[in-house]
Amino acid sequence: MTTTPEPTDLDAFVYSRQPGYDETATRAAFAGAVPLRTIVIFCYDPRAAAIPTQLAELWPDEIYPGDLILDDHGNKVGSTATIFPIVVAGGRATDALRSITIGHHLFGLQRVVVVHHTNCGTSSFTPRGLLEAYRTEEGIDLSNMYSSDSLAIGHLETSLSYDVNLLRRSPGIPASVEIIGMVFDIDRNEFTVLTPPGG
Ligand SMILES: [Zn+2]
Repeated sequence: MTTTPEPTDLDAFVYSRQPGYDETATRAAFAGAVPLRTIVIFCYDPRAAAIPTQLAELWPDEIYPGDLILDDHGNKVGSTATIFPIVVAGGRATDALRSITIGHHLFGLQRVVVVHHTNCGTSSFTPRGLLEAYRTEEGIDLSNMYSSDSLAIGHLETSLSYDVNLLRRSPGIPASVEIIGMVFDIDRNEFTVLTPPGG
């Protein structure tokens, strides 16, 4: 049996704890305040940080990072950004699913872009090497914790194709959402589309 904890001061701005909270109205207000259209998944490597900015330069209908929208009291009530980044090791899709589902629920998504990049740190080790190192150095067995196909990048076209298929087959992403896979050349700042929409 679970009990609902009493609200604390930290909960003063938790939406679902406000008097008269209306979930449907709150969701509609969120969708109006946030023009999210596209989620971009990419690596947490600092050299990859400009990926969403550069995609927004390539695609005139996208805005990133955009501007914050303030109300008369200076409260942050929205943003003009149409791209939300999901920044994870290697830009692997497995880490992004929950965030995509929530993003679509709140704001309505049109496309998801998976970007893997050249010279990625996740291509410097193998799944087997990582599992073995954890076993011998930490005494931890991770062999049942992650899919070995998502742990490291051994071939960019293979990893990208795997991730696009993982997202496309996931029940957490409606079929109306376009999935695009791209490789980013970290030194030349160039994108190559490897899995175009519908491909
Ligand atoms: Zn990387």
